[in-house]
Amino acid sequence: SDANADLKALIRTIPDFPQPGIQFRDITALLLDGPGFAETVDRLAVLARPMAPDLIACVEARGFLFGAALAKELKLGVLPIRKRGKLPGQTVGVDYALEYGTDRLEMHAHDLIPPRRVLIVDDLIATGGTVMATAELVRIQGGEVAGALFVVDLPELGGADRLRQAGITVESLVAFD
Ligand code: 5GP
Repeated sequence: SDANADLKALIRTIPDFPQPGIQFRDITALLLDGPGFAETVDRLAVLARPMAPDLIACVEARGFLFGAALAKELKLGVLPIRKRGKLPGQTVGVDYALEYGTDRLEMHAHDLIPPRRVLIVDDLIATGGTVMATAELVRIQGGEVAGALFVVDLPELGGADRLRQAGITVESLVAFD
């Protein structure tokens, strides 16, 4: 939307990162801009409230920045979703496919007991693989997925459509074709 054009201007495009042919959308300039970061979190909160979450799950590592700020705004707790081997307690995990090979997302085994309505937050959705794995983790632990929320959507990569087909409410602030 026009209202988000100023935020979009704070997201830089870095060509050929992390490999040739990829246009990387970089959110570090947005993070450096105090009013821009505050406005981003305020707008995420507007989109989050109708989903009625009672917990924010955010994905390592850029998702932590937005997820934790949003959780403070909504006075909710944070469930950090981590890459394999980072959490000290008993974990549960889901393996998911990357372009080359697989990775594993983990959470502590008892963090959704009793069940919660979980909003998944990340900086960006591309193919949707990361968030599909996170949603699976939430559900196998008995949680309910309240929705998925992003600063940036890359609609041509199909992730948002994939999540909606899986019955997940999806919202984002800006899109890049
Ligand atoms: P997906 O699993 O949807 O294909 O990829 C999304 C994940 O990869 C997110 O955790 C996101 O942080 C990261 N990612 C992929 N492409 C980009 C990009 O262009 N910019 C940023 N900031 N993150 C990206």
